[in-house]
Amino acid sequence: MIAPDLRDKALAARGFMPPDEGDALADAALAAAAAVPGAPLLEIGTYCGKSAIWLGAAAREAGTVLFTVDHHRGSEENQAGWEWHEPDLVDPAVGLIDTLGVFRRTIADAGLEESVIAVVGDSPAVARHWLTPLALLFIDGGHGSDPAHRDFELWTPLVAPGGLLCIHDVFPDPADGGRPPYEIYLRALDSGRFTDDRAVGSLRVLRRS
Ligand code: SAH
Ligand code: MG
Repeated sequence: MIAPDLRDKALAARGFMPPDEGDALADAALAAAAAVPGAPLLEIGTYCGKSAIWLGAAAREAGTVLFTVDHHRGSEENQAGWEWHEPDLVDPAVGLIDTLGVFRRTIADAGLEESVIAVVGDSPAVARHWLTPLALLFIDGGHGSDPAHRDFELWTPLVAPGGLLCIHDVFPDPADGGRPPYEIYLRALDSGRFTDDRAVGSLRVLRRS
């Protein structure tokens, strides 16, 4: 469990991570950092930094860091006219979402600037140049079919043996939400590289064998 004051910051931060799933994410991060000493954690999908507080607090406690990757322009479902649109996040000069400023304030306010490192860019473009093995990979970026499957293909080979893969918004019942996160969860199991570790809400935690 992370420090109570940081957990309070995470609960108050802007975003969509339920408390029990955030706590499970932090537990996974602490376990992964212990299993793969010295390796960093990496999140795909920063948004406003809510899940990054849980992960960043765990990283700091474990003596490692969290890299969090986002182009900060929002996913399809965050754009104007879609279900998860938040109009005040639009940069009027560009006409697109910009979550980078809110994220920076969130992490500064939590005192986690030394433990949370923003990587601003398109997830596949970053993945193609990333070599460092990861203690924990959290996939919570684009939830469309192409983005989710590309994140699976490009990033999951970087999870170190003994490390953990976390996937958010996994809904086995189509009535509860979109398919791609569930599809990549099944792909991870089918690959033979990962086994189920824990499920909390829509969060799945898998262990790299
Ligand atoms: N993990 C966050 C929520 C992430 S929302 C939390 O729980 O608080 C999904 C994010 O993925 C959005 O901010 C969006 O900009 C980002 N995203 C979508 N497609 C992306 C891509 N191809 N590269 C980088 N970021 C992407
Ligand atoms: Mg999510």
